[in-house]
Amino acid sequence: MSRFWSPIVETLTPYVPGEQPRIPGLVKLNTNEHPYPPSPRVGPAIAAAAESLNLYPDPTAAALRGTIAEVYGVAPEEVFVGNGSDEVLAIAFQALLKHDAPLLFPDITYSFYPVYCGLYGIAYREIPLDAALRVQVADFTGPCGGVVLPNPNAPTGIGLSRADIETLLRAHPDAVVLIDEAYVDFGGESAVPLVRDHANLLVVQTLSKSRALAGLRVGFAIGQAHLIEALVRVKDSFNSYPLDRLALAGAAAAIADTAWLEDNRARVVATREDLASALQSLGFEVLPSVANFLFVRHPDHAGDVLAAALRERAILVRRLGHPRIADYLRITIGTPEACGRLVEALRAILHR
Ligand code: PMP
Repeated sequence: MSRFWSPIVETLTPYVPGEQPRIPGLVKLNTNEHPYPPSPRVGPAIAAAAESLNLYPDPTAAALRGTIAEVYGVAPEEVFVGNGSDEVLAIAFQALLKHDAPLLFPDITYSFYPVYCGLYGIAYREIPLDAALRVQVADFTGPCGGVVLPNPNAPTGIGLSRADIETLLRAHPDAVVLIDEAYVDFGGESAVPLVRDHANLLVVQTLSKSRALAGLRVGFAIGQAHLIEALVRVKDSFNSYPLDRLALAGAAAAIADTAWLEDNRARVVATREDLASALQSLGFEVLPSVANFLFVRHPDHAGDVLAAALRERAILVRRLGHPRIADYLRITIGTPEACGRLVEALRAILHR
């Protein structure tokens, strides 16, 4: 603490990002990055954009928003872009989710949500997952200043159906329902087709996961124009340039390459299914994931012991803070080789 801090800074409990260590030969399965490089169209697009770095970027990101609108079947006025979906979420919390009634989100979910609430002074109520660690939309009742839900949920990887999302939208017609679809491309059901009929729906996606561009920092939101306008008003009040020229160009190239997305999500999903079977045959309980990670625990081995033993073998997985999931490991789907190394290491650890 310092006497120079503002009062709000003293109250903050910041998000703790996953580790990015530099260890030679590391098998890095801890931060849900894509295991392969992005579309080959991205590099040349960025190189071409570098020629104009003397000029400010387009503050409205019109070209990128146009590309996203085309690929997702919406209007450009229904698209907002930001510096990673974390920034898009932060702006949405300020612009749409700060009300007298509390914001609702699951008790086990993306741990940035309570951090934003702390930062922006938003009251919230955490809705417990059921016994199988599933979100039950019927439990999202009572006073509601908005709903935030990742679909699939993080860190469980369990997906909700579009019908579930519709139920929530109808239950809270006067509150914004924000669906965080960071991982939806790996087998989830997107809510984007519901935007046309639901004035209270905002869908947030990222290029960090299925498009293998975590290093570029681009996320976007899709919703009706009146919601997008609120996001733009907040953005223009603190940084009118949401993305730099390189990010705008690289992101547009990646979004346009829909064939790359199809091919590479299929590769990750196939590896996920192989890894799930291999872990089950080692005795792990594996939650049904539609994401690019698995959430697993072993009935006879504590999560912290397993994670530490993997770390000794230069394999990183993630453990999360909530006491109910203390024994779970969240394992990002890597290449088949990386997953093979993980399985061999776990076999050795379990049988030693
Ligand atoms: N939402 C969820 C559920 C996530 O797990 C993540 C990744 N940590 C994000 C949003 C943010 O991703 P990014 O800022 O890279 O777009």
